Amino acid sequence: EQDVAEYRKSLGIRVTGFDVPRLIKTFEDAGFSVELMKAIAKQAYEKPTAIQCQALPIVLSGRDIIGIAKTGSGKTAAFVLPMIVHIMDQPELEKEEGPIGVICAPTRELAHQIYLEAKKFAKCHTIRVSAVYGGMSKLDQFKELKAGCEIVVATPGRLIDMLKMKALTMSRATYLVLDEADRMFDLGFEPQIRSIVGQIRPDRQTLLFSATMPRKVEKLAREVLTDPVRVTVGEVG
Ligand code: ADP
Ligand code: MG
Repeated sequence: EQDVAEYRKSLGIRVTGFDVPRLIKTFEDAGFSVELMKAIAKQAYEKPTAIQCQALPIVLSGRDIIGIAKTGSGKTAAFVLPMIVHIMDQPELEKEEGPIGVICAPTRELAHQIYLEAKKFAKCHTIRVSAVYGGMSKLDQFKELKAGCEIVVATPGRLIDMLKMKALTMSRATYLVLDEADRMFDLGFEPQIRSIVGQIRPDRQTLLFSATMPRKVEKLAREVLTDPVRVTVGEVG
């Protein structure tokens, strides 16, 4: 335990919460599938970044998480890799429809980046990823969602539009990521986020990532996460 504390400190990681899972040092420690390990190797990711070392085991254990780390620290893989595992763990995948993993991001550029990263890791398990954001034809998006997907990456406004159009159902969604939560609040998406969260079953796993934790985001986290572990990397938050 002393070792773990020292190692965390050396990576600039602080954690709060009960029964915090140990951190991993290598991707091998995460217990990923052979296919996923190959996809990681293809990205030339040699070892997990600090946030990944601590977030991966927490999320893989099924716990909710608040991850606070600056831009460029590798947060996307910290939520995308466990999402692939989560989806592969679902029994009878084919029987229902609608996404299992739902990722909300503040802007179309960010949603698109996450979409590209998710596709790199999803394709080895033939998991389908759809992107939902403004600037694309609503009809095309509607059709794509109707065709089915396991992961949806979306800006909150357009996702609400698609839900209203019944392009997708949230009945199968059990893994929700709120990425760049502070920026989503800055852009006025709080009502949309609350509406989306309200449409996803309460026994979901919820992940919230943010560069800063203003009081309003803190309040949302208290309301929508269950016994989260808080992981902070570096001098942020
Ligand atoms: P954040 O969301 O924290 O701003 P990203 O997830 O966008 O950061 O990652 C930043 C960059 O680091 C991306 O180019 C990504 O491909 C790369 N990256 C992520 N994880 C690793 C890793 N373990 N090793 C090397 N590069 C990584
Ligand atoms: Mg990011």
